[in-house]
Amino acid sequence: MIQDLVQHIDRLIQQRPAAKTALTPFRELALLMVQVDPQAKPVELEKEVMDIKQQEGFPLFSKEDLPLDFDAATGLLRKFLEHLGATDRDDREGLKKALKKAHDTDEWSRNLFKTILKQDEKALSLIAKEVDLDPKVIQFLGQVALTPSIHALRDALSANIDTEGWDYGYCPLCGSQPDMAYFAKTGRRYLHCELCGEEWAFSRIRCPFCDNQDQETLGYFEAEEEEGFRVYFCRECMRYLKTIDKKAFEEVAPLKLENLATIHLDLLANENNFK
Ligand SMILES: [Zn+2]
Ligand SMILES: [Zn+2]
Repeated sequence: MIQDLVQHIDRLIQQRPAAKTALTPFRELALLMVQVDPQAKPVELEKEVMDIKQQEGFPLFSKEDLPLDFDAATGLLRKFLEHLGATDRDDREGLKKALKKAHDTDEWSRNLFKTILKQDEKALSLIAKEVDLDPKVIQFLGQVALTPSIHALRDALSANIDTEGWDYGYCPLCGSQPDMAYFAKTGRRYLHCELCGEEWAFSRIRCPFCDNQDQETLGYFEAEEEEGFRVYFCRECMRYLKTIDKKAFEEVAPLKLENLATIHLDLLANENNFK
């Protein structure tokens, strides 16, 4: 699966050279990800509890309580830090400091992962400051290190989730917001979870962030000369969602990559005051 990821990255870079800057750091990490094999912890979930959660609109887990393989994620984070600290990056000294912390105690990485999952920006900048790194760098590395463990959990649980019965703008598995959407060949819209990658169908004329269904304040724009991508926005909450139309492409990469490869659309949305 990770091998596929690298192939997708190479294809995207070839087809859309502008995406190279965003995808190259991820490619480097993806090569290291091949070396870990996270285990999804067996989770006992009673069918009744799951049904009730689903009916009431509660995700299966809250982000902070996801039963993830943190040991695998810690191992991967160390690999990332070791690899990048040995390059000629300007922040290599900070990366080495972080590696030392990660080696000294498992608690340091554990705390970093929890902070990222909780989206506690204040705590994150403290962790980053301690090792002289940009918070964005440490956050990116932590997130990518968590990815294989999160995917292992999603793969183990996804079949138990009735996404058809889920009619909310947040993820049925972890409660996170969507970071992208796509139109299937059938024309149905699916949302993609920013954290675990779960996908679920959602009405086309409705904002997943504030539930607005008023056609007057919902809309979209497209980038010039770029077919197949739209940016849907909502003037009520001023949020936006990048959306890919699968009909327009022969092959679509995992949405996590499509997301990285379309950063120019984020800039365009930001220029128009959407966030
Ligand atoms: Zn999720
Ligand atoms: Zn909205």
